[in-house]
Amino acid sequence: TQRELAKSWQGPGRTRDGEPVQLLANIQDGEGARTAAGSQAEGVGLFRTELCFLGAASEPSVDQQADIYRPVFEAFPGRKVVVRTLDAGSDKPVAWASVPDEENPALGVRGLRTSGIDPNQLPHQVDAIAQAAAGREGETWVMAPMVSTVAEAKWFTDMARERGLVAGIMVEVPAVAILAEQFLSIVDFFSIGTNDLTQYTMAADRMNPNLATYTDPWQPGVLALIARTAEAGRKLGKPVGVCGEAAADPLLACVLHGMGITSLSMASSAIGAVGAQLSQVTGDQCREAAQAVIGAGSADDARAEARRVLGA
Ligand code: PEP
Ligand code: MG
Repeated sequence: TQRELAKSWQGPGRTRDGEPVQLLANIQDGEGARTAAGSQAEGVGLFRTELCFLGAASEPSVDQQADIYRPVFEAFPGRKVVVRTLDAGSDKPVAWASVPDEENPALGVRGLRTSGIDPNQLPHQVDAIAQAAAGREGETWVMAPMVSTVAEAKWFTDMARERGLVAGIMVEVPAVAILAEQFLSIVDFFSIGTNDLTQYTMAADRMNPNLATYTDPWQPGVLALIARTAEAGRKLGKPVGVCGEAAADPLLACVLHGMGITSLSMASSAIGAVGAQLSQVTGDQCREAAQAVIGAGSADDARAEARRVLGA
């Protein structure tokens, strides 16, 4: 059964005919990083730093922050670790970084936008990441959440590169996917946050259980934006990963590889099932599935098309 295959699958991520698919872990602290290091994860694709600070009343110093980040790097020596800068606001209130009582918090001051409240916070955080990652040249990537303008992408990229880090942004706002080439020419990499990209593309609150049919990454409008973003990556030769829930769906993982997505990041417990599914299909099948879902009229049709092509 698929479950047994997932358990016995060893990694690294690749299709049946040997095309590599980097499988990474989503983590939120040193303990999670150590657990992930014991799985088949090849590195960390999303370190959600804001979750380290939900209980903090004031901004921790640069040294204090570095002490929090360091164990994550230590769990993955010589491996890629992608650190997301503070994604405060909306569903993740951080007392020292977010605006309380917004009427529409998901559309409010969240992610990179909170640096408008105190422009020093983000440089402090990036300093702390660089300090904690000392000696890990090229393997420490940082990315900003909720970027929506070219000016934000430039500001963040300059700041991260000045500190010797690989600089990227998350693709969570449709404006970025629509202008994918323009944004990607500025940064070193993209990571698509399909949870928020779906929420904003479908105009449906990801926290609202009544909207589950809308907040489905198989929605053809969402798939089209992901495909467009992946295509920019192929054209410019830069990495484009996925780090939302979509990456943990074994069938969708094959479609994403077929679109040209270069890495998939998920809870480490999901890696076995995704790796096992990828090992059963060829790269050409994945590309055929990616083609097939683009013409689908609904999320269910897209799923059915992918199943048909992948024999899953
Ligand atoms: C996403 O939006 O898909 C994502 C990975 O970020 P988060 O779920 O933390 O908002
Ligand atoms: Mg997000």
